[in-house]
Amino acid sequence: MNKVLIIYTGGTIGMDCNAKTGALEPLRFDRLSNKMPELGQIPTAIEVYQFAPPIDSSDMSPLQWSQLVRVISDNYDEYDGFVVLHGTDTMAFTASALSFMLENLTKPVVLTGSQVPIGQLRTDGKENLITSIEIASAKHADGSPMVPEVCIYFSGRLLRGNRSTKVNADGFNAFDSFNYPHLADAGINIVYHEEYIRKPDYTKPMIPHFDLDPNVVIFTLFPGIQDNIVQHALDVPELRAIVMRSYGSGNAPQRPCLMNMLRDAASRGVNIVNISQCAEGTVEMGRYDTGYQLKNARVISGYDSTVESAVAKLMFLLGQYRDPEIVREKMEQNLRGEISL
Ligand code: ASP
Repeated sequence: MNKVLIIYTGGTIGMDCNAKTGALEPLRFDRLSNKMPELGQIPTAIEVYQFAPPIDSSDMSPLQWSQLVRVISDNYDEYDGFVVLHGTDTMAFTASALSFMLENLTKPVVLTGSQVPIGQLRTDGKENLITSIEIASAKHADGSPMVPEVCIYFSGRLLRGNRSTKVNADGFNAFDSFNYPHLADAGINIVYHEEYIRKPDYTKPMIPHFDLDPNVVIFTLFPGIQDNIVQHALDVPELRAIVMRSYGSGNAPQRPCLMNMLRDAASRGVNIVNISQCAEGTVEMGRYDTGYQLKNARVISGYDSTVESAVAKLMFLLGQYRDPEIVREKMEQNLRGEISL
């Protein structure tokens, strides 16, 4: 029988109403699984590791990402796959971070959660959890895993983790990946789109990475953005990288003051990564003069990366390398299927 480890971090899936305040708060997994006798019917051996205490994913941080990598790597040989129960709010960040931190991953790591707690009548959590367990234990005829990568399963869609974004705060279809096709779609059957699923090198050992450097910031351009405020942000001594959310295909206002500030920061070793504010499409800094100027200022192309993936990739690379030139070079490489080149 295949064996799956459920890692319960918290999130709405395991929450219940606080009797006094009426607000949702996380429950222990044993209380959660009591509400889900169906778990006993799944033909997969299931074991559980739970975060103590379980958290709302708004409280996720690189510390918990390292803890997740520790749990997965300590249990890697014992299980066929891993299901991470996680709040939806920061799930795409965690999935992106795990994809970089688990190098040469050859087993499924499926993140899921729900919009309505498992204990409530109209919950989406049961289907999400049961299908995630099925995906985490699914194998080809030769015994190799169907989906040997970090992914998010939610409401019938299996998405590459570092391509996913939370798109809906209310609906059950909370996630999508705009620049990469679904890895599978679950209806009556689970249909795997094998051509889009990563094919790892099974001869290489999985290498867990624990060090991240969170000295990064995301800033969004908008008409009227003030140079002096940008200058203050760039002057923070600890700052090592910026994800700059630019317009359209990677464009920014052309005024020389802004360009000079970015160029100076880049020459001091701050890595500036250009990501589009559009959900779909890619950065192409040569298309308009307004983008070309950024290229000249040594701004790095983030191509069609999500913001979540760009931030996680920067934290990961900054945690591995002191030299901004190496970080720059690796940012423009496709490390885990996170960008299309
Ligand atoms: N605030 C919750 C969390 O991210 C929302 C959810 O799980 O959907 O933990």
